[in-house]
Amino acid sequence: MVPKGELNMVKEVEIQKKLRIINRRSVVCTVSGGLDSAVASALMAKADFELHFIFFDWGQKTYKKELRCAQALARHFDATMKIVEVPLLKSLPGISLTQKETLTTAINEYVPNRNAILESQAVAYAEYLKAGAVCIGSTGGDHICPDNSPKFVDIMQLLVNEGTLLKPSIQIIAPLIHTDKVGVVKLGIKLGVPFEFTWSCHNNIDVACGHCSNCESRLEAFKLNGKKDPIRYAK
Ligand SMILES: [Zn+2]
Repeated sequence: MVPKGELNMVKEVEIQKKLRIINRRSVVCTVSGGLDSAVASALMAKADFELHFIFFDWGQKTYKKELRCAQALARHFDATMKIVEVPLLKSLPGISLTQKETLTTAINEYVPNRNAILESQAVAYAEYLKAGAVCIGSTGGDHICPDNSPKFVDIMQLLVNEGTLLKPSIQIIAPLIHTDKVGVVKLGIKLGVPFEFTWSCHNNIDVACGHCSNCESRLEAFKLNGKKDPIRYAK
């Protein structure tokens, strides 16, 4: 077991290997306006990739705030920005992350098959652009939702290898998949990520609630790194 906040260096070597496969120096980064995708994008920028952001409007109730953050991050990283609507997910009533009620637990945050839907679209966009990779912000941890596990990422890579024409195949890079939230913030600090342009709260779009599962893990991650989170929280 890797201690909280430490990167798994064996897995880092695997990611470097993946990066060497790619001979096309542009990447499509799926961005949500959250911490993880911001830090993953910063890693790709540091590896000298040209960044193309893709942001999904799938009916999330904090959409407006997340989009503003994603746009600010695009300006920061000098990335192009594509906004994609996902009408199917928007049309499904009863998904917790699209509901008005206040959320406090992680267990009901699953959205049906969301990451397969979003990542497939990111791959299509990457193939159109002739980009080398798709970067996703999935992190390590309990993987309560099955569609952000390391196994899921490996299988998505097989799907790309099999189902797309561009060769060498677009690489699915999940640079944080073996890192926890504390490690993500630590890396973000090192890379100078503007955390003020990120949003994690599931409930509010002006002042973060401070008590949903995302706020709690974010606050803990900043605290354990000895740094103050620059966004505002409700008292
Ligand atoms: Zn919150």
